[in-house]
Amino acid sequence: MYPQAAEKPDIREFTAEVTAIEDNTVQLSETYFYPASGGQPADRGTISGVTVEMVAKSDGSIIHHLRSEPELAVGDTVTGRIDDTFRVYCMRAHSASHTLYGAARTLFNELGYGGFEITPEKIRVDLSTEDAVDAADVVELERLTNQAIWDSRPVSWREVPVSEAQNNENIAFNTQTEEGVMTDQSAVRLVEIKGWDIAACGGTHVSNTIEIGPVTVLNRS
Ligand SMILES: [Zn+2]
Repeated sequence: MYPQAAEKPDIREFTAEVTAIEDNTVQLSETYFYPASGGQPADRGTISGVTVEMVAKSDGSIIHHLRSEPELAVGDTVTGRIDDTFRVYCMRAHSASHTLYGAARTLFNELGYGGFEITPEKIRVDLSTEDAVDAADVVELERLTNQAIWDSRPVSWREVPVSEAQNNENIAFNTQTEEGVMTDQSAVRLVEIKGWDIAACGGTHVSNTIEIGPVTVLNRS
């Protein structure tokens, strides 16, 4: 199952019931915290005022690791607050990686998508191509990416049956994000930048490329 955060990435505050507590960890009846997965780091924020240090997926559940043992009991109603600055950064970064991939599609042959990693300072996108990539390609990649951003292209997401996704050769599969997903799910989540890129992805995204802002390709390796 995909995180609710991916479906409604604009929610920053929610209430939920505590369903399990163990030491510093809490599970909730529902959560809009994004668990670390597929290259996107976990959300920051608080649950009932206690700092959330890590959010992780475990056996299909989302586990919130708190800084200190909370004074809570199963059945309590709590308020979760998601750090807006960091989430917006992740949404922009995730969307930027798709936009860059779309640009790479127009530049390179036999393009493969190995996933990506968002850190607080930069994003690493793993692409593979049979073409030799030189400095001029990198400049062009950056130019095309920023052009697509300024085009203000709508970004949308939806779930489709796995078979439909697998039959569409235009869909990029992020091997990290989709790890295990194809085998134990009947649906796959697609993120589409209108007229530019379509990828299977469970992360959080902006709804228009203009929200990404300027992208600089720092280096290649
Ligand atoms: Zn994504």
